[in-house]
Amino acid sequence: MKKLMTLCLTLIMMPMFTEISVSAFNLPDIEMIKTLNPDLNIDKVIDEIPKDASLKDPNLVLVNRENPIDSSLDVPLTYTENDIPYHQEIEEAVLDLFTAALDADHHLYAVSGYRTVDQQAANFDARMNLYLADGYDEETAYYMTDLFVAPAEASEHSTGLALDLLGTDWDQYGGDLHQAYKDYPSAIWMAEHAADYGFIIRYLDGKQEITQYEYEPWHLRYVRVEHAQIMMKHNLVLEEYLTLIQHRDDNE
Ligand SMILES: [Zn+2]
Repeated sequence: MKKLMTLCLTLIMMPMFTEISVSAFNLPDIEMIKTLNPDLNIDKVIDEIPKDASLKDPNLVLVNRENPIDSSLDVPLTYTENDIPYHQEIEEAVLDLFTAALDADHHLYAVSGYRTVDQQAANFDARMNLYLADGYDEETAYYMTDLFVAPAEASEHSTGLALDLLGTDWDQYGGDLHQAYKDYPSAIWMAEHAADYGFIIRYLDGKQEITQYEYEPWHLRYVRVEHAQIMMKHNLVLEEYLTLIQHRDDNE
């Protein structure tokens, strides 16, 4: 009885975390990071990471196939000029990025931003149905869809911190989300400068094994300037960066 009371008391006293509990993230192993980045001096990079960098920082939230998003998360929204929704808190960063791009003669626009988990599920089904209509069997259609479209709860678009951006220089070539976009001036500019406004190119070429996504030169993710600059400088994806923070914390 006493034991039960103590248990009840403990449960009552436990603080309620509304933040996403990031210590529960499923992260790649540090050995995998070393193998994939043989030239990277891990200790040196860890020294560069801001001391206050934390796995609990909402800007560093990880959503992927192994880390599904809590679908009840309430995301306060704002909208781009062409009515694409995204997280209100990164409005200044997005506007600064667009302005800096314009100053360099690149007209960026958003193709996609915040999506609810339901919208993501619909997206997935729509793409898969196209493949099925083309005559692919169920398994192949799922595989092909899965290469570029995240399953319902695995899209970081549902955080409001991710935007698919293209430049108008790409319009005359169809304006699709296609990897060939990477060689166009606005895409090159984004890869070089987005970090200065807090954004990373989230799915880098050569990191498919970790991100489980093909290279997407258009998909930008807000993480804060100091984190973005380190990641882009060392060609690290978010999963790798978080593993380094965890490794640092484990060895403190
Ligand atoms: Zn995207």
